[in-house]
Amino acid sequence: MAHRKLFSPGPIEVHPDLLKEMSVPMFSHRSKEYAQLHARVRGKLQKLLLTTSRVLLLTSSGTGAMESAMRNCVGKKVLTCAVGAFGERWHQIALSNGVASELLSVEWGQGLRPEQVEAKLKQGGFDAVAVTHNETSTGVMNPLKEIGAVVRKFPDVLLMADCVSSLAGAKIEPDAWGVDVVLAGVQKAFGLPPGLAVMVVGERAFKRAESIKTRGFYFDLVKFRDEDARDQTPETPALSLIHALDKMLDRAMAEGVEARFERHRELARTCNGWAAERFGLFAEEGYRSVTMTTVSNPKGVDLGKLLSDLGQRGFTVADGYGKLKGKTFRIAHMGDFTVFELRELLGTIDSLL
Ligand SMILES: *Cc1c(COP(=O)(O)O)cnc(C)c1O
Repeated sequence: MAHRKLFSPGPIEVHPDLLKEMSVPMFSHRSKEYAQLHARVRGKLQKLLLTTSRVLLLTSSGTGAMESAMRNCVGKKVLTCAVGAFGERWHQIALSNGVASELLSVEWGQGLRPEQVEAKLKQGGFDAVAVTHNETSTGVMNPLKEIGAVVRKFPDVLLMADCVSSLAGAKIEPDAWGVDVVLAGVQKAFGLPPGLAVMVVGERAFKRAESIKTRGFYFDLVKFRDEDARDQTPETPALSLIHALDKMLDRAMAEGVEARFERHRELARTCNGWAAERFGLFAEEGYRSVTMTTVSNPKGVDLGKLLSDLGQRGFTVADGYGKLKGKTFRIAHMGDFTVFELRELLGTIDSLL
């Protein structure tokens, strides 16, 4: 298979050094060796993710962690806030698990206003809020800190954030912002192959989970917490991926946590500036993602041809998501990408226009 550099929002390009780490010989997950790896990875994750809460590793893609959050953290009813396709997914996950959910929908391209959340919560009856931090369909990044401040005015309401395409790229402070559950899959801003979900879970969320009887078997957060206390996971974890994650975290620590976040901001400035000149930006100003850009197409460029020509040149960007197919395309600038590599992609698109 010819290699094309993946500027798509999942899976993203994986650095060759990390790919190599995937081929480690297998070892027992009930060994001392694993417990040491587990503890080491958790400690480094806490540093990168700016939290002192437990950071759990689930063997699944990001959606598995979303399902876990819905089953474990909602006792009465969840307010599900959707600014695009992945917010709507939260709602579908709730309903398909028999969890009562009310959908608060915002027009695609717009960001969620904290006041909208507050107005809904004032109506009462909710004990959780589900939001998307970075909406990968529209390129909108919601103001999670401000949303957290509003949710905190309601003491019995938990906040769960889908940060699948932002965690480890955008600066998120789960503890300081009052976000009870923060989750992601490692194939996005972590820059690893898919198959592992990372979940930051606060004490309030564990307490809620303890009160819920039908929280499922595989993604039972109480079991995950108790096993994590012994540096273990309930079932067999994705050992190769955790081994690669260990190295990814070393690389992130060597770069510096703040420097990593700043690199992502610079990538976004570069991509947004280019997109605004050549095409347009789908997400409204003030709510634009730092890990990816959804590019609009006001001049009606043949995007099918552009994306296929780009493929011939060795680059993959993503088509519009769902109803935005053909109307937008998406450039992911997350993980290990440098501004130089992004400029190579943008220059190649320029040469094709
Ligand atoms: C990719 C993505 C998901 C789904 O993640 P999977 O790992 O494919 O299950 C959910 N939410 C957002 C915001 C995403 O970008």
